[in-house]
Amino acid sequence: MTGFQQVPAVYHRLVGDCLVTTLCDGYMAYDTLEIMRDADHAKLRRFLQAETRVCPPVVSINTFLIRDGTRVILVDCGSGGIMGPTCGRLPELMAHLGVAPGAVTDILLTHVHPDHSCGLTDPASGRKLFPNARLHLHRAEIDHWFDDAARARATERQKRVYFDAARIQLGPWLADGSARPFTERHEVLPGITALPSTGHTPGHSCYILRSRGEAMIVWGDTVHIPEVQLGDPGVGMIFDSDSAAAALSRQRILQLCVDEDLLVAGMHIHFPGFARIRRGYEGAFRFVQEQWFHAPNHGHDPAVWQPPRAKEQG
Ligand SMILES: [Zn+2]
Repeated sequence: MTGFQQVPAVYHRLVGDCLVTTLCDGYMAYDTLEIMRDADHAKLRRFLQAETRVCPPVVSINTFLIRDGTRVILVDCGSGGIMGPTCGRLPELMAHLGVAPGAVTDILLTHVHPDHSCGLTDPASGRKLFPNARLHLHRAEIDHWFDDAARARATERQKRVYFDAARIQLGPWLADGSARPFTERHEVLPGITALPSTGHTPGHSCYILRSRGEAMIVWGDTVHIPEVQLGDPGVGMIFDSDSAAAALSRQRILQLCVDEDLLVAGMHIHFPGFARIRRGYEGAFRFVQEQWFHAPNHGHDPAVWQPPRAKEQG
């Protein structure tokens, strides 16, 4: 049987007064376990098979749209055209939703890697793809990817896919002053706090959204392969700038998710990308993917979400 496709990968979930929408930019299907920094492939296979996952893994690339009735916030912006035919779906999904790129008020970047940031700018024309948005990111991301000495130490592939792509993508945003870099834990927008979690990249950051007693962390690339990295949080990825620092950040963020019972929204969690974290045995954590809710309001309320402001006015 051929010619069948899934419906568009769009999913809504309320967090307090905010409507959070997962838009899946696509996926990466790996052909090797070498993407993980762990020579014990039997162990990696065992973790994946215990959760009946594809081995080597297939990994979603999620972005999250947050709407509070006033702002339209995109957390990461997909991969543009740089990652091949299984990726780059964000623009068509936004069109499907009826959200014009010009309506996006803010973009929060977890970090500058091609699957997260190559949807910022059209590389052919240098035109910003979200003309009215402010761009929030950790200053260390700018400093690192524009550092000529760091670029000189990189492999040819890293130069092209990371450093050069970052410069093309960030360049116009820095030139016209629409970037808003931060350097430490910081409330970037009302109700949204940036939480630096360095390691995967020098300025990798999570974002915590709080609204009406509910809390969600968008954790970027804290975890790529949940079945493996919650069982053994020490397993790094070959994409990490500093795997040891990334593992420390992973441990810290996972513990925070347990302690505060945060709803996790993950860029590489299986679509639609929501989970909770629990403590497992012997230093491991347990990944509990959230059930699919048939209505955005936790499945209980069939009413269609309306922006709070529209409700007040109406
Ligand atoms: Zn990533």
